[in-house]
Amino acid sequence: MNPHQRDIERLYAHLRSGADGLTQAEAKRRLARYGPNRIEKIAEQPLVIRLLKEFTHFFALILWLAAGLAFFAEWREPGQGMATLGYAVLGVILINGLFSFWQEYRAEKALAALRNLLPQHATVLRDGKAVSVPAAELVPGDVVLFTAGDDVPADSRLIEAFGVRVNTATLTGESKPMARDVTATAEELAALRRDILHAGTSLISGEAKAMVYATGMHTEFGNIARLTQTLHEPLSPLQIEIARMSRLVAMFSILLGVLFFLIGQLVGLSFWANLLFAIGIIVANVPEGLLPTVTLSLALATQRMAKKNALVRHLPAVETLGAATVICSDKTGTLTQNRMSIRQVFYSGALLTPNELIAADPLFAVMRNCLDLRRVEQNGQSVWQGDPMEVALLESVPPGVASFPRLDEIPFDTERKRMSVICDTPQGHTLYCKGAPESVLPLCDAMLQDGNVIPLDEAGRGHLSGTQDQMAAQGLRVIALAYRALPQHDAHRETELVFAGLIGLVDPPRPGVTEAIGTCHAAGIRVIMITGDHPHTAGALAREVGLAQNPVAVTGDKLRVMSDADLQLLLDEPGLIFARTSADQKMRIVQALQRRGDIVAVTGDGVNDAPALRCADIGIAMGIAGTDVAKEAADIILLDDHFATIVTAIEEGRAVYDNLRKFLTYILTHNVAELVPYLAFALFKVPLPLTVIQILAIDLGTDTLPALALGAEKPDRDIMLRPPRLPSERLLSWGLLLRVYLFLGLLEAVAGMAAFFFVLHSGGWQFGSALGAHDNLYLQGTTACLSAIVVMQMVNIFLCRHPSLSAFSRGHRFNRMIVYGIVFELVLISLIVYTPWGNALFGTAPLAAEVWLFLVPFGIGLLLLEEGRKALVRGMVRRNAAESVAR
Ligand code: ATP
Repeated sequence: MNPHQRDIERLYAHLRSGADGLTQAEAKRRLARYGPNRIEKIAEQPLVIRLLKEFTHFFALILWLAAGLAFFAEWREPGQGMATLGYAVLGVILINGLFSFWQEYRAEKALAALRNLLPQHATVLRDGKAVSVPAAELVPGDVVLFTAGDDVPADSRLIEAFGVRVNTATLTGESKPMARDVTATAEELAALRRDILHAGTSLISGEAKAMVYATGMHTEFGNIARLTQTLHEPLSPLQIEIARMSRLVAMFSILLGVLFFLIGQLVGLSFWANLLFAIGIIVANVPEGLLPTVTLSLALATQRMAKKNALVRHLPAVETLGAATVICSDKTGTLTQNRMSIRQVFYSGALLTPNELIAADPLFAVMRNCLDLRRVEQNGQSVWQGDPMEVALLESVPPGVASFPRLDEIPFDTERKRMSVICDTPQGHTLYCKGAPESVLPLCDAMLQDGNVIPLDEAGRGHLSGTQDQMAAQGLRVIALAYRALPQHDAHRETELVFAGLIGLVDPPRPGVTEAIGTCHAAGIRVIMITGDHPHTAGALAREVGLAQNPVAVTGDKLRVMSDADLQLLLDEPGLIFARTSADQKMRIVQALQRRGDIVAVTGDGVNDAPALRCADIGIAMGIAGTDVAKEAADIILLDDHFATIVTAIEEGRAVYDNLRKFLTYILTHNVAELVPYLAFALFKVPLPLTVIQILAIDLGTDTLPALALGAEKPDRDIMLRPPRLPSERLLSWGLLLRVYLFLGLLEAVAGMAAFFFVLHSGGWQFGSALGAHDNLYLQGTTACLSAIVVMQMVNIFLCRHPSLSAFSRGHRFNRMIVYGIVFELVLISLIVYTPWGNALFGTAPLAAEVWLFLVPFGIGLLLLEEGRKALVRGMVRRNAAESVAR
């Protein structure tokens, strides 16, 4: 079958359908027969390969190296216990790899499930009525109705088309829009057939009605999907940062390993014993749990965001959102409710309330006919679908005003800011036009006054534009209506129109917007409104929602003549808002902000917003009012279109970065405590206070769950009271490193060493005397050191929840996982210390109660000292803030 060559009647016959589409029953039958309209994912990487990848990343490679060295040592010098170490490290690689894989797999599934929350819908004719159905349920023979911004869900042949242009980039790679109409064609190349809308492309403009002839894998797009591999997404800043940090930490581990090996050689350790320590050091320093924690942290934040109506399409976008410094927000529907009602009408020279508007037939005719609404069935009810402003206009028209057949239309777009339709009326062809007054008034050369058409002179124009300003200053959205009788067969020129009236509509702010803007300001995030509406309307809203006391509204016209340098200067202006802007200007503003070093989140809903959404650091599309094209281009979709949701999402994004830092602080602390015993052993010739296996017991046993718990923390209460993170700020900052290595880690190491010597001295050991590796006193000593580190980590987990807030502060939200983590730690250390199995595996021996008592002051000491340090930091911050206010 060649649907593009056939005339439409023959296609109907072939598909056993018609201009009114299929019946529900027939569609159901066909769905069972042809299957769902879905592109199956074929090119996904096989699970085995993805599993293998978990064993070949940088950390894993270092561990492989360590295991290899251990086995090599065993081969050269059997009986030194090196094989046990080798197996232990292999175990580490295995557990870590499987765990990471499981985390990633789960995160991916969760993300896919979230995406399915927002299935694509299509408006189709079923039983002759327009209904919205999931795109997956389309079948050949269905008649689909399209408007600008819709994705084409299945290959379809056009039946009707008004001003249709499509973006076929997915098929042809060509991003220039192409026109489409109903004329049959013999074109060879599928993507060039003018009468066909292909699945995977999207409508940039116009309106269309088309018949589906191929679905799912039978579409051209399905064919391509079969052939091509999935595109690799570029790395996000967080991924790059983590890769950078992994390399740094890994290098550091290896460097330390080599250094300790050399020290060992210098102080005369045997080569093999020395190698054992070097491996121990390397293993101790690799932060094994980091990668799964990153995934877990992002995935949990994503799930929390989904609960709050923000759907994340790309996992790393969560974190980028946390770094946002500017939000460029639309007005209508995001800051306002997009629930419009008419408040004022200017008709025949008078400002009226809607109730006072009677006998205004020319005005009503425009309001009734110049619309893009569609009646659809929703939950058994017939409702108007489309722009709420148009619904408000339509609902204000008295019954009895006729709706005329439409011959043609020039659809609305944000560039022109108006729309026109041509109708077949009893008086002949008539053009009805409505739009922004700035766009419509220049086309008018006459106006209605007391039922007569009089010329519109300069004074009249001035008066109208003054009236518009007056209405807009009250926050009303003002629309101008005009019409013109067209001579038969005349081209539909939008000139010489008769001005009919101005309509002022209220669109109240959304509840919660004022608070959300307040939160943004407290969090050092700038909010810039970018709207297509009038500057006065935008300014009035900006004042109402607390965006700015004295808004500085810059219009698209001014922006157009502004140089890039001037725009940069303008961006310093507080209270800046942009009005009467077009989509390409939105993109220019975003780029200018980025040039200043801002991390920009931008909202959008229309087709034209797609470039700005892509170019922004975080593109946010509207779930309700947004077109498919905008959603496709965005990183995050707001299911409720609400501005406040962006702010909650930013909070979650900030928490991700915070959590990774909490996690790193926690695990790097134990690394220091694990290193110091080796230093003491090599430099002071004391028995080794902590064995390699015991290091692994901490890194891969006791500390795993508590560390994960820190990765899963909910946002701190103060998280939106601090400024955004600087883009130059690193995950492993100097502050963090100093806190860990010179403070927390050191205190923990002191506790471990003290416990070791406490046990040895109690058992009568003297400095310089030898102790056998299997001596019970030695086993108890290492057990005490291990237990000390574990106890200190139990205290440390509370300290790591914030770098400056007290562990007892009310700023923290309850985290159940921390409790589980500590219980897990307690159970595990008890098993290691008090069971024969634990003793044999980890080279430990049961401890007397006094050893635990000995540890208590160290735990309290750590708590008090860290609380003191935090209090000092808070004091310093307060002083600095006070000084800067004073200045
Ligand atoms: P925002 O960009 O914040 O969503 P907006 O909805 O006012 O605000 P646009 O959609 O770009 O921005 O609309 C710009 C102007 O075009 C509006 O202020 C209005 O005057 C006019 N307009 C909007 N929708 C229509 C429509 N359906 N028909 C005719 N004119 C319209």
